[in-house]
Formats: sequence, structure tokens, C-alpha cells
Amino acid sequence: MMLKLRKGRELSLYRLVPSPLYQDSSLSSYIGSMKIRPYILAETNWKAVKDTTYDIALLPWGATEAHNYHMPYGTDYYEGEAIAALSAEKAWNKDTKTIVLPCIPFGVNTGQLDVKLCMNVNPSTQYAILTDVVDVLLRHGIKKLVIVNSHGGNNFKNMIREMSIDQPEMYMCSLDWFRIGDANDFFDEPGDHAGEMETSVIMHIQPHLLLPLSEAGPGTERKNKIRGLREGWVTSQRQWTQVTDDTGVGDPSKATAEKGTRYLDMVSGEICEFLIELANTDPNDMYE
Ligand SMILES: [Zn+2]
Repeated sequence: MMLKLRKGRELSLYRLVPSPLYQDSSLSSYIGSMKIRPYILAETNWKAVKDTTYDIALLPWGATEAHNYHMPYGTDYYEGEAIAALSAEKAWNKDTKTIVLPCIPFGVNTGQLDVKLCMNVNPSTQYAILTDVVDVLLRHGIKKLVIVNSHGGNNFKNMIREMSIDQPEMYMCSLDWFRIGDANDFFDEPGDHAGEMETSVIMHIQPHLLLPLSEAGPGTERKNKIRGLREGWVTSQRQWTQVTDDTGVGDPSKATAEKGTRYLDMVSGEICEFLIELANTDPNDMYE
């Protein structure tokens, strides 16, 4: 970004930020070695896009919300973006042309409106956004859309049903990356929100945004008094501030970056296999 100065001079905004890292030659060589990823729409360019036929679009969808004391508000956003990118890279290397759309940073957070700056976007607004995204994709011949959901409060199941009436040309589906495989194979206690699993994932993808684990609360969850709700076969909304004191659900104390690395490799591998199968299947002929 450039700033216009009064005397007609231009100044790079980056130079206004006195970062010691900016002076670091190892950082400049790191940046120099970074490449444009052709499967990330925000990074690629018209020159490449205009001549590429894409099999599938991926739409990561996150949230911006408190994650215990130690994790960034953008945790779900960073996770969705990274997992979509890793999966698309693996698929791209196996000749499945996937394009990752920019991650939607706002999720459904109606149960956290009393937690400071938890950003809520209602389901009806999400549907309006999806309608516009689907319209653009269909205009350019992309007829398969996979939502990479990164937030438990988002639920696209009924939107997919409604979209099938509004835009029957589009095959739309949604996956919850955090439900892939068995997290118990990777973590002592995976946790539900800002616990060992999520903390390990962020230790792998955005370690500089984490506070030390000594800053984290225990992530203790209060269970519902009513059995049906406790057992999960009755669904309602959890009033988050009644469930937890530190906004976390799950103990993050045993998190490590290595656990996060291994887990994300499994998750992105599974998504990659799904993308390849989906690319090679006709939506009108999906059953054996
Ligand atoms: Zn989260």
C-alpha cells in the first residue's frame, strides 16, 4: 500500500513500521524464496487464471472470536485458510485443479454476543454471501463448491438444500475439518474450543500469535443440567459465558507443534483424497 504525501511524494506504508525483522537479511531471503501459489486465488493473477480450468472451488469459512486467553481471535480463520491451502496444494500436485477462495472471517456467534468483540454474522447473511459467491463461480463454469468449515457455530447443511433449489447447476457441499479422522489418535485430550488440538494446530501454523501456555486458562466446561442437552440429542444454543470462564472448552496444557503438524497432515491428506474423488465424479451420477 502506498500513501500519497502532500508534496506529491509517495511513501510505502511498510516503511512506516519500524520492524527489526524488516532489517533481518534471513527474513528477506525467506520472502524471496516464497512463491505465488497458483491454487490460492488471492495470490495468483489474471495471466494464470484466465487460462486455467478449475475443477473445484474451496471456500474456507471461519469466525472471529475469543479462544481462551492465549490464542488469537482469528484462530478459526487461520485454521480454515491453512487447511484449505494445504489440501489444495496436495490436490494440485495430483492434477486436481482446485482454487481456494479468500476465507470468510465472520461466523455465526449468536451465543457469544456478550463476549467482547466476538463478531457475529447471522445464518441468513451467510446465505446471502454464498448466493453471490455461487453466482460468480457459475458464470465462469465452476460447478463444484466445497465449503471448508472451520467453526462449530457455522452450519451449511440447510443452506446447501436451499441453494439446490436456487442454483441447481451448482454442486455444493461442506466439510468440518475438525471432524475428520479421530483426534484422539493425535492428542491426549483434543478439547472442543481452544483446547489441546486447536492450540497444537496454531503452534504449527501461526506460532508467533500464541501467548505462552502459562497464560491460558484451564478451559473447564460446565455441563448442562438437563440430560437430553447434556447427551447431545437435544440441540439448542450454548450461552458461552455460562459454559466457560476463560472462553475455552478443553485443556490446552499438553499442546505441541509436532502434534499439530502430524494432525494437519492427516486432515489435509483426507481432504485431498476427497477433492480428487469429487473432481472425477459426475454430480448427477453419484451412487453405485
Ligand atoms: Zn476455534
